[in-house]
Amino acid sequence: MDTNLPKTSQPRIVIVGCGFAGLRLAKDLAKLPVQVVVIDRNNYHNFQPLLYQVATGGLEADSIAYPIRKIFAGQHNFYYRMTDVERVEPAQNLVKTNIGDIHYDHLVLATGSLTNFFGLDSIEQNAMQIKSVPNALNLRSYLFQNFEKAILTEDPTQRQALMNVVVVGGGPTGVEICGSLAEMRKDVLPKDYPELDLKQMEIYLVESGAEVLGPMSKFAQEKGKKYLEEKGIHIRLNTHAQRYEDGRLYYSETEFIRTQNLIWAAGVNGAALDGLPEEVVARNKRVNVDTRNRILGLRNVYAIGDVANMITEEMPRGYPMLAPVAIQQAEQLAENLGRLLKGEEMQPFQYTNKGSMAIVGRNRAVVDLPGDLHFGGFLGWLTWLFVHLMTLVGFRNKAVTLVGWAISYFSSDKALRLIIRPFNRHDFNEHQLQTKAAEQKAATAEYIPSVAAPEAPVVGG
Ligand SMILES: Cc1cc2nc3c(=O)[nH]c(=O)nc-3n(C[C@H](O)[C@H](O)[C@H](O)COP(=O)(O)OP(=O)(O)OC[C@H]3O[C@@H](n4cnc5c(N)ncnc54)[C@H](O)[C@@H]3O)c2cc1C
Repeated sequence: MDTNLPKTSQPRIVIVGCGFAGLRLAKDLAKLPVQVVVIDRNNYHNFQPLLYQVATGGLEADSIAYPIRKIFAGQHNFYYRMTDVERVEPAQNLVKTNIGDIHYDHLVLATGSLTNFFGLDSIEQNAMQIKSVPNALNLRSYLFQNFEKAILTEDPTQRQALMNVVVVGGGPTGVEICGSLAEMRKDVLPKDYPELDLKQMEIYLVESGAEVLGPMSKFAQEKGKKYLEEKGIHIRLNTHAQRYEDGRLYYSETEFIRTQNLIWAAGVNGAALDGLPEEVVARNKRVNVDTRNRILGLRNVYAIGDVANMITEEMPRGYPMLAPVAIQQAEQLAENLGRLLKGEEMQPFQYTNKGSMAIVGRNRAVVDLPGDLHFGGFLGWLTWLFVHLMTLVGFRNKAVTLVGWAISYFSSDKALRLIIRPFNRHDFNEHQLQTKAAEQKAATAEYIPSVAAPEAPVVGG
């Protein structure tokens, strides 16, 4: 198959992934005399920090995703191909995709991360994750399906399990989902399900560490925990999820929580691609790079964002997997590729920490800013809303999100709770879908359109 990329005398820079890092890099290369080829399996850029709002019915999927071709309309050196990169062949300067091979002069991996289940197979096969738009929509669908089932059952234990939600992972994602679920329980579910006793619905946050919001300040950890407790979330610290069987999440040999709604937000690995030298892929599947984001030992291959493992004195365990790191590494690499073309020295990456924040629902958020500045409450909430609104891609998305939030705020309601199609949890997770796609591919030995491969089909918003 031919990828139909125009031949050019200019250097071709291939970027795999159009998340925060790939998007910024491709934009910043607009003025360089290069051909920019962006490859992504999805034809949209996905704003992951707001996925949990899609999962809990607060926002439509279309508000947090934006078509890649539309973002780059008018950028003359830009080409996009929607496909899955299967492996890289650095010795031949090639990436292997399911639409054919693509040659590069410079290759940038911006493939992000994948959910890490720490080898807990029973959890991987059954838990819901929240890494993509299809994940979020399916999660929403699944929660509401279980509420429909809860109405039908006569068995109180079964009903409780259908209504209980367990979120594993007390980082910002887990905390934000819990806050949003607690608001759903208070404001939305009693109106929709008057036949159910919502007091029976319990929300648990299970965290293996000694605190929630581990990467944030002590202030944020304590305030965040207090906000969650005020919302009636059961927080289980120093608790290790071990296995999930028969609708029970075990955290020791014998102790368990009954739930049909298990959400896994406990960790991610880098999304390293096959074909890289083994020694450059770290245990957490991030790719070792130097301070110029060059993959160690390779001449013209780079990694940026979540997938890049840049170890420095400042960050001995690598930079955190955060959007600002991805964006800043992309900006530095664009500048460095410009320098390279002019025969100048590349400059090292320097991170400007712009702070971090987490929202725990209406009027409640915690914010850490550089310079040991911490605040929470209404001001924190406003700051969170403003920053997220401003970083959304596209005017339409900003406007739709603002209007949606305003309506939810004043009506204490979330409009989006359609179950567009019945959803089976066993089709849920990406690992299973990837395995299924690989099996299918092996069976047919033919081209499989990439849209079907890594993720469940999107159900409507
Ligand atoms: C639920 C959630 C909440 C978050 N909240 C925050 C937050 O509040 N603040 C914050 O700073 N960060 C947050 N993050 C982290 C932040 O989203 C990431 O750090 C950021 O997305 C990293 O950007 P990236 O470009 O490296 O990767 P990504 O944004 O993940 O982009 C990777 C892209 O590569 C594509 N891709 C991957 N492999 C292939 C392949 N083989 N072939 C083709 N395409 C491929 C994917 O489709 C994707 O578009 C959150 C993450 C999640 C999941």
